[in-house]
Amino acid sequence: MKPFSYLRAGSVAEAVRESAASPGARFLGGGTNLVDLMKLGVESPGLLIDVSRLPLDRVTDTADGGLRIGATVRNSDLAAHHTVRTRYPALSQALLAGASGQLRNTATTGGNLLQRTRCPYFQDTSKPCNKREPGSGCPAREGAHRDLAVLGHSAECVATHPSDMAVALTALDATVLLHGPHGERAVPVTGFHRLPGDSPDTDTVIRPDELITEVLLPPLPDGTVCLYRKARDRASFAFALASVAAVLRVRGGRIEHAALAFGGLAHRPWRARAAEEILRGAPATDETYQTAVDAELAAARPLRDNGFKVTLARRLAVDALAELAARP
Ligand SMILES: Cc1cc2nc3c(=O)[nH]c(=O)nc-3n(C[C@H](O)[C@H](O)[C@H](O)COP(=O)(O)OP(=O)(O)OC[C@H]3O[C@@H](n4cnc5c(N)ncnc54)[C@H](O)[C@@H]3O)c2cc1C
Ligand code: SF4
Repeated sequence: MKPFSYLRAGSVAEAVRESAASPGARFLGGGTNLVDLMKLGVESPGLLIDVSRLPLDRVTDTADGGLRIGATVRNSDLAAHHTVRTRYPALSQALLAGASGQLRNTATTGGNLLQRTRCPYFQDTSKPCNKREPGSGCPAREGAHRDLAVLGHSAECVATHPSDMAVALTALDATVLLHGPHGERAVPVTGFHRLPGDSPDTDTVIRPDELITEVLLPPLPDGTVCLYRKARDRASFAFALASVAAVLRVRGGRIEHAALAFGGLAHRPWRARAAEEILRGAPATDETYQTAVDAELAAARPLRDNGFKVTLARRLAVDALAELAARP
């Protein structure tokens, strides 16, 4: 591993200032992804700025009935938080479906959003990869791509985003708060992660030296229910082949509100806008769910070996909607 310096930031301002002063520096959350990538030679920062002990470790209610989640809140603390479990169970379920207990005890909210793809070629520096080394090629397209994208991929990259938490945040319409050298800004999580296009080396819209400070969850109106479901090769310690976060409100047999996001299918959590349009105002029936989910997945372009993901995603989403609608 290339030698690097380590600095524990005492404040958000110091973290951002030190990052701006050291090109190639990286913020360190729990280190569960970044340190692995450093060991593999995929990342080689000259400076690690440890932000894991910044005072951003609280989950607090907002005045409008939403939730404010600090960037250094550990995944296990967030999953166990009473309000998250009771009001936003999709988020708690997504977190608990990810990684292992030990990893969740260390991983942070900010780091989870920015974890890198698990495409095997990205993690192997002996192989070409457009995401790691722009212009070098994408061996996954014709190679091992069973776990990779069926939606929104490009000729340059067919990777998927690995986070479960980000999928729940996408369906819940969360907002990411960023602090950078030029001040603060808020980015809806639906616009935070990118599709690969012709620049797959860029995963998100975060700018150089910007620090994630918080994530905001809007309130969910009374009667809104949500859940997260994940299909994977093993019952734990495995990334999603396909997953779904669903948010639903049904009144008098009609769907008043529906939000749907898929994981494991694309370079970013995939918000299912076409499905939502069909669901909104429609009768809450199995036929509606099937029509809506099929309309969304009609955009899928499976690769040679991953067409099964479309079937998995369809079943997960239709079952999730039916389960939510059946709740008293
Ligand atoms: C064996 C294994 C299995 C796993 N399984 C799953 C799974 O099933 N589902 C799942 O979702 N995840 C899974 N994970 C991934 C795990 O959830 C992530 O590694 C973790 O969430 C990353 O958080 P971290 O705080 O450790 O990030 P770090 O490794 O510290 O950082 C990740 C990235 O975020 C940046 N960063 C960190 N904090 C900030 C901040 N506040 N602002 C700006 N940039 C920041 C870092 O610079 C780095 O680029 C697994 C990991 C392992 C090792
Ligand atoms: S899918 Fe993306 S991450 Fe994987 S090899 Fe191709 S360019 Fe690299």
